[in-house]
Amino acid sequence: MGTSASVPSAARGTSATLIARGGARWLVDCGEGTQRQLLRSGLGLTDLDAILLTHLHGDHFLGLPGIFKTYGLRGRERELLLVGPPGVDALLDTLHPVIGRLPFRLDVMEAGPGAVIREDGMEIRAFHTDHGVRSLGYAVVEDDRPGVFDVDTARVLGVTPGPDFGVLQRGGEVRTADGTVVRPDQVMGEAREGRTVVLSGDTRPCDATKDAARGADLLVHEATFTTEDRERAIETRHSTALEAATLARDAGVRMLALTHISTRVHPREVKAEARGVFAGTVVPRDFDQVEIPFRERGVPRLVPVQERVGRGARDDGPAAAEAPATLPDATL
Ligand SMILES: [Zn+2]
Ligand SMILES: [Zn+2]
Repeated sequence: MGTSASVPSAARGTSATLIARGGARWLVDCGEGTQRQLLRSGLGLTDLDAILLTHLHGDHFLGLPGIFKTYGLRGRERELLLVGPPGVDALLDTLHPVIGRLPFRLDVMEAGPGAVIREDGMEIRAFHTDHGVRSLGYAVVEDDRPGVFDVDTARVLGVTPGPDFGVLQRGGEVRTADGTVVRPDQVMGEAREGRTVVLSGDTRPCDATKDAARGADLLVHEATFTTEDRERAIETRHSTALEAATLARDAGVRMLALTHISTRVHPREVKAEARGVFAGTVVPRDFDQVEIPFRERGVPRLVPVQERVGRGARDDGPAAAEAPATLPDATL
């Protein structure tokens, strides 16, 4: 939703990345104007399940009051989880006069390394990063899925289609009509690895990110600068495109998406520098998507916004249809 570092540009908003899995929606960072970015993306201001902040620099949280207020005006009732490093509680206290009362419960979680969200078949884990302030990266990690059930083999072994198939798929043994015992490992293929997406947030390249990203389907890493500005990257605890690509290569990720691009550098240069080291690098623009299929179905793919919303999309954003107003009359 936002791929620019520190300040927005005409074409790029400040940090915000939406993760969608099934019906779940999580937002990692919420820079100024994120609610408008969500609307412009064509996805709409979806009812987020959680917002995860990587750290408390303004370009990563200034969009919170706006989103909270709009949810309030809409009459949102479902609770919203806000996760961030220590300090996020105090930040909310500071913002309280701005935000005021909300009709929904805001659960604030100050997190350290470890699982911060656990849901059916997946979890989101936080890890420490290196940005000179308290900062976290996040890894969205799916559980492995059971292997494929081999119907033909089950039949040959004499298992009757029906409830016994289910017993085997859930890991139980069954006894066939002639008394033979069939074990699940005879009819179930290898477990299939779940998908993993890792988001670095703002950081120097660090081992914690590399460990979390080992073999990941997608690493979203910041690349604020190119090597030309390496000194500045070290001073400000950011990464260069070359450094991010080197980390991605060493971690063996399948795709690297670079974000948090400084307005001082052209994204084309960022991409060229990174691809010299890691060919599977993309530099998404705002509203681009990365689709991550299950591994047996293909490889991650960058879906440029024009492809998603059809031809005729404007260069500075999708020609998203105006949604009908959903807000009651209100004065802000
Ligand atoms: Zn930043
Ligand atoms: Zn920062």
